[in-house]
Amino acid sequence: MAASIPHFSLLRNYAATTARAFVTVKVKPSYTISSTTLLHLPSRSRRLQFYASASNNEEAAARAAAANADSGAPTIFDKIIAKEIPSSIVYEDEKVLAFRDIDPQAPVHVLVIPKFRDGLTQLGKAEARHGEILGQLLYAAKIVAEKEGILDGFRVVINNGSDACQSVYHLHLHVLGGRQMKWPPG
Ligand code: 5GP
Repeated sequence: MAASIPHFSLLRNYAATTARAFVTVKVKPSYTISSTTLLHLPSRSRRLQFYASASNNEEAAARAAAANADSGAPTIFDKIIAKEIPSSIVYEDEKVLAFRDIDPQAPVHVLVIPKFRDGLTQLGKAEARHGEILGQLLYAAKIVAEKEGILDGFRVVINNGSDACQSVYHLHLHVLGGRQMKWPPG
């Protein structure tokens, strides 16, 4: 029967098998890689290296931000609320402001924040009195999703604290969508 398989078909099958073996090559976390070696690594391994480096930066930035979390110091979001620095506003009302993230992680990536922080540096600081604004923020997230045309599939994320890589200590909801979202989120 094998003789009846056309030559190009055998080649194609061989190529597919080889490609699969190629992408499963793994890099040990402790392995030091020179830039020359990096050039010869399969692309997936290179992506893993860059991903590891990017996520280390995020974690370091989050730890630095957490050190000042309880100082009550204004954040970059206060300047955005005061319109002292520009932002691309998607939705605004008396209590809530929603604007596009400067470093989007999806085609739609909007931050929804309370205009008055009132102690809400992070969700973990919420008290019973914050119930109303927390509801308003969630409802604003839905309005943003509607305006952005992603009501069929969107994700709302709150990073709380340095273990969750929170980098700005003014409560904010990330509204993400416009692409297939994966789970688990990592
Ligand atoms: P976190 O890491 O605290 O959950 O999210 C903070 C978010 O604020 C990040 O996604 C970051 O890209 C965004 N961000 C930080 N600075 C600015 C800024 O000046 N303008 C805008 N539009 N987004 C910012």
